Amino acid sequence: MENDGFIVIEGIHKNPNNIDTLDHKTKTVHGPFDKKKAEEVARGLIQKNIDNFYHRAWVVNKISEINNICEECKKEDTSVKQNLIMHSYKICNSCNLSKTIFPI
Ligand SMILES: [Zn+2]
Repeated sequence: MENDGFIVIEGIHKNPNNIDTLDHKTKTVHGPFDKKKAEEVARGLIQKNIDNFYHRAWVVNKISEINNICEECKKEDTSVKQNLIMHSYKICNSCNLSKTIFPI
């Protein structure tokens, strides 16, 4: 699936050339889009924030390699990808919620 595997991540960076220095409080994820649309969105965001040196928007396509299977309950849910991107946990919203309420 190369058609809808692209997301755009924008935010403020300590080092605008390194996506790993993104400040997660400022992070916004757009998409998923197809490649052309993702590049368009990223370009638009960069132009809109052209005065902010530390703002950066990235096109990321790793989502295409990820399935939607939650590692906790093994169920498929569309929230799994979003949670993986946002929190780096491969988990669905309902497991995420029960974890938050009942920490181990
Ligand atoms: Zn789950």
